[in-house]
Amino acid sequence: MQNLSTHYQQLLGLPSPWKVEHVDLSIPNKQVTVKLLYTEKSVRCPECGESCAIYDHAPEQKWRHLDTMQFETILIARIPRCNCKQHGVKTAGVPWADKHSRFTLMFEGFVVELLQHCSTTHAVSNMLGLNWHAVNQIMRRAVARGLKRRDREAVDHPGIDEKSFRAGQQYVTLCYDLTGGRVLEVVENRTTEATGQLLGSLTENQRSTVKAVALDMWQPFAKAVANLIPGADIVHDRFHISKYLNEAVDTIRRQESRKLNESGNKTLNGSRYAWLRNPENMTDKQRASFDELMTCELKTGTAWSLKNIFRAFWRFTCPDSADYFFTYWCGVVDRSELKPLIAVKDMLVRHKANLFNYFKHRVSNAVSEGLNSKIQVIKASARGFHSFESYRTRILFYCAKLNMAIS
Ligand SMILES: [Zn+2]
Repeated sequence: MQNLSTHYQQLLGLPSPWKVEHVDLSIPNKQVTVKLLYTEKSVRCPECGESCAIYDHAPEQKWRHLDTMQFETILIARIPRCNCKQHGVKTAGVPWADKHSRFTLMFEGFVVELLQHCSTTHAVSNMLGLNWHAVNQIMRRAVARGLKRRDREAVDHPGIDEKSFRAGQQYVTLCYDLTGGRVLEVVENRTTEATGQLLGSLTENQRSTVKAVALDMWQPFAKAVANLIPGADIVHDRFHISKYLNEAVDTIRRQESRKLNESGNKTLNGSRYAWLRNPENMTDKQRASFDELMTCELKTGTAWSLKNIFRAFWRFTCPDSADYFFTYWCGVVDRSELKPLIAVKDMLVRHKANLFNYFKHRVSNAVSEGLNSKIQVIKASARGFHSFESYRTRILFYCAKLNMAIS
């Protein structure tokens, strides 16, 4: 058995004074258990690193390690507890695992890599025989490692956005680095206080380098930016404004459709998605039926045209020309007498300065559309997150571009 122990000692790369005491192979259980022994009389305090006398040994603990030839491999040890003059009795750290983890670092590193290459955590859980909780803990520790390592370089253009969380009216707020295309942090709720907490996750130095923040017209967001990054411009971005305009067109379609249906006219039935598509994304067939709809002289058609014309706004390079266009567009919207669209126009007029900041910074949360769809997948694949924490963990795990490797 001596040879097997030496073999595992080398395989595990255990630093002294840890030694492999015994290796047990169970063929029926397809399991290898490796018993480890601490061979010195002193141990370092986990708090101050001071060398202290051993007080006693904690009860036996187990860690799952990487399999040996498809045999589940378990490390077993009693960790020494030190008696530090300054900190009292403390359990020492071990070189192969994080505190409180039931898995070795090498095993966790393997799980993290696997998770990054699988579309769902479910597949990884199944393959390795891990339950949801174990995977969640491994992801959480990986995210903590990544956040610790994250560089604190300048973030010129952050974006703030909300996402629904659980069914109903619960929200989380995210902060993006729009230039780096990554999520920086996620907090629960979308209040001024929550947004303040979100922006507070940036260092003071980072906040001082922010040039502009992209956000929708939700007041608490703007308030928090004014409080915490008073030097930054606010940009009401293209991504959100097209959302408001699309919602207005949809409201007009629903109202008009209801009216038409009352007189037995079914022209608008089933046309919801047709009005949300941009012309360049229509197939030939979709375009043909859309053109047919447009000849019906519907209010919805007018609303759609006005929404579509507004896309030109973002293409101007000179703010004066954009201003001329904007005034003209507002006039046409007013004359259309389409109330939902006029409401959006009024909102744009109220926030005109921040709208026109676009021409100074040209940022948009649309940059994060790729991230948005990733978050959508996370949301869909884990319906009914029990806690906000596990939702945050997954978003940061998949969308924060963290370095989560083990040391
Ligand atoms: Zn100590």
